[in-house]
Amino acid sequence: MIKTPDLHTHSTASDGTLTPRELMARAAAQGVEVLALTDHDTLAGIDEAATAARTLGLTLVPGVEISVTWNARTIHVIGLDVDPHCARLRAGLAGLLAYREQRAAEIAQRLARAGWPGALEGARAQAKGALVGRTHFARFLVQRGAAQDVRSVFKRFLVKGKPGHVAGRWTTLEEAVGWIRAAGGQAVVAHPARYGLTRSRMKRLLDDFRACGGRGIEVVSGSHSRDDAFTFARWAREQGLLASAGSDYHGPESPWIELGQLPPLPDGCRPIWSQPGFARHGGAWPSPLAPTMSPGLDLVPA
Ligand code: AMP
Ligand code: MN
Ligand code: MN
Ligand code: MN
Repeated sequence: MIKTPDLHTHSTASDGTLTPRELMARAAAQGVEVLALTDHDTLAGIDEAATAARTLGLTLVPGVEISVTWNARTIHVIGLDVDPHCARLRAGLAGLLAYREQRAAEIAQRLARAGWPGALEGARAQAKGALVGRTHFARFLVQRGAAQDVRSVFKRFLVKGKPGHVAGRWTTLEEAVGWIRAAGGQAVVAHPARYGLTRSRMKRLLDDFRACGGRGIEVVSGSHSRDDAFTFARWAREQGLLASAGSDYHGPESPWIELGQLPPLPDGCRPIWSQPGFARHGGAWPSPLAPTMSPGLDLVPA
C-alpha cells in the first residue's frame, strides 16, 4: 500500500512555474513517494521528470490533464499512467495545442480591444516556448499592472463575461478518454467541485464519463474543500468510480498549496493507486524503438 500519492501537478511544460526537474526535487524534499506530472494538454515535461525521478528515488506517474468541452462547458480529464509514446494520445494532444495557438490569438485580440495591446507576445514571453494558456496572459497582465495578482486578472479579464474571455472549443469527453485508454492509462475527472454543476448535470457528466470508459474522479484536490471531498467520495461510491487525489500544484507562488500535503481519502473510497499494476512503469515506459520489450496492454485493468 503506497502512502497517499500526489496525482495532479504542473510544470513549466504548461502553466506551472517549476521545471519538471525542480518539481521532482521539491516533491522528494516534501517526502512524496509517488507523483504524477499532469501538464495541460502536453507530455513535453515527462522525459525530464522521469530522469529526475530516477535520480531522486521517486516514482513518477506519467500523466496529462486534457481540456474537454462537454455540453458547452470546459471539463478537465486527467490521464494517469499513460504511455507517453502512444501515437494516438500524442496526435490528439497535438490538435489541442494547435487550437491553443488559435485561442491565444483570439484572447490577445480581445484584450487589445479592451486597451491591453501586445498580450500575445507578452503571454508567449511568460510561457518561454511552452504552450500558451490563460495563466500566461494573467501573468503578463499583472506585470503590466492591470491587476494586483493572477487571481484578480482572471476575475476581471479572463472568465466568462469578461473582455478577454474566449469560450473554449476543446476535444470531446469520448475522444479524451479514448486517447488515455489507447495509451494504457486511467481517466479521471479533475476537481469535479470546480464546475458548478447541479446534481442532475453532475450525474449526466459521470454517466457519460463511465460510458466512455472513465475510471475515477478526484475526491481530494487542492481546489476542493473538505466538504467537497466527502461529497465526491459519495459520488464515487454511487457511480462505482475509483477515487484519486492531487494537489493541482502550479508552483511556490501559490503557497497555500504544497506538493503531497493532502488529507486522506474519506472512508469507503477505492483509491485508484491501489489498482494492480498502477505506476508499474515508474515513468520508464519502454522505448517505442524497442517494441519487443513492451509489457502488453493486456496487463492494464479495463
Ligand atoms: P487554460 O487551460 O489555458 O484555459 O487555463 C486554465 C488554467 O488557468 C487552470 O488550470 C488554472 O491554472 C488557471 N485558472 C483558471 N481559473 C483561474 C482563476 N479563477 N484564478 C487563477 N487561476 C485560474
Ligand atoms: Mn493550470
Ligand atoms: Mn484543471
Ligand atoms: Mn491542473
